[in-house]
Amino acid sequence: MAQDACLPELSDAEIRRFGRHLILPEFGIEGQRKLKAGSVLLIGAGGLGSPASLYLAAAGVGRIGLVDPDRVEETNLQRQVAHGYSTLGRYKTESAAARMLDLNPDLVLERHDTYFNIDNAVELVSRYDVVIDGTDNFPTRYLVNDVCAKLGKPNVFGGVLRFDGQLSVFDARFGPCYRCLFPEPPPVELAPNCAEAGVLGVLPGVIGSLQATEAIKLLTGIGTPMIGRMMVYDGLDMTFDTIRIAKDPACPCCSKAPSEIVLRTEQMVCSAPQVGGSITADALKDRLAAGEDVALVDVRNPPEWLAGIIPGARLADKPSIEADLRELPLGSSPQPGSALAAIPQRGEVVFYCQGGLRSAAVIRALVANGHDAKRLINLEGGIAAWTGEVADQSSSRKLEEAAG
Ligand SMILES: [Zn+2]
Repeated sequence: MAQDACLPELSDAEIRRFGRHLILPEFGIEGQRKLKAGSVLLIGAGGLGSPASLYLAAAGVGRIGLVDPDRVEETNLQRQVAHGYSTLGRYKTESAAARMLDLNPDLVLERHDTYFNIDNAVELVSRYDVVIDGTDNFPTRYLVNDVCAKLGKPNVFGGVLRFDGQLSVFDARFGPCYRCLFPEPPPVELAPNCAEAGVLGVLPGVIGSLQATEAIKLLTGIGTPMIGRMMVYDGLDMTFDTIRIAKDPACPCCSKAPSEIVLRTEQMVCSAPQVGGSITADALKDRLAAGEDVALVDVRNPPEWLAGIIPGARLADKPSIEADLRELPLGSSPQPGSALAAIPQRGEVVFYCQGGLRSAAVIRALVANGHDAKRLINLEGGIAAWTGEVADQSSSRKLEEAAG
């Protein structure tokens, strides 16, 4: 996006390395110099960020900022191919940076081992030409959208879930923003995340690579960016559909003058009322330590259960409970061996999942089917609160559970 006169020259090594770009008539030396002059802020070094970071570095983007507070975990490696066993426990930004600099030693790489939040959003986005949203949670997605609209930056959006992906470029100067389509975040129970719903590992590879393509097009000015269009990818049917999306004249974000756009932190709220009791992880620990006999039911999926449980818990996963409830006539006893039969029929029962949402939904379903709400108790914050994940990563884990 720099002017020709002030574009940086390419070194001999760069001319060799980017030869396949230079012989593209649409790209050429000028396109390569524009990339070298360009900068991208990549928010999230996970599934989408892995291919995007590697391809942008390899393509010769001059400066890349990587934002991610998380460290590499084993469960990431099914899709986050910028990382590996050799970098388990390291910051994702550090892990990805090693590969990126190996691909392009001239890259200026700026690591931000921090959450993208309302305190740093303007400062970070203002320093880059293009933003890639590689996050997997709604509050961050809305904040990225709003700050890009406010500062007049293109936001290359990608979303993945199960076998499906989406791609668009939101640039409020020339087209719609994310809030033109979805003015407010959905209620938490309608916002499944990849941790709960699953994602085919290669899917973020497809969408993240397309995000890198769009960023390169924006920086070099070649082709037609996905502004005003949304690409919808169905990995099972292997179809790519593109739909037109329009600017909403009443959009709560981009209908305003940029200076009038006020940044805020979206709260993911549950539209369903709380049913039954609730208990904090600390209170539960106290009761167990005091020798109380508290029945615990883990409603997560079996693979999550295998990764670790609260001692003494029995497994009754949410899909099985819901299937049992659909099949069981109201008021009758559950079949022996069924998920419902694993739930004690008397006394207090504490239900938990990863972050407290699925277990709350199970309690609602049980109460709707005639169970006594008074004895059904939800563990607030789920096993994440129990193991202390929430304590040191505060809001983000909750956000992740809520949306991403
Ligand atoms: Zn808008």
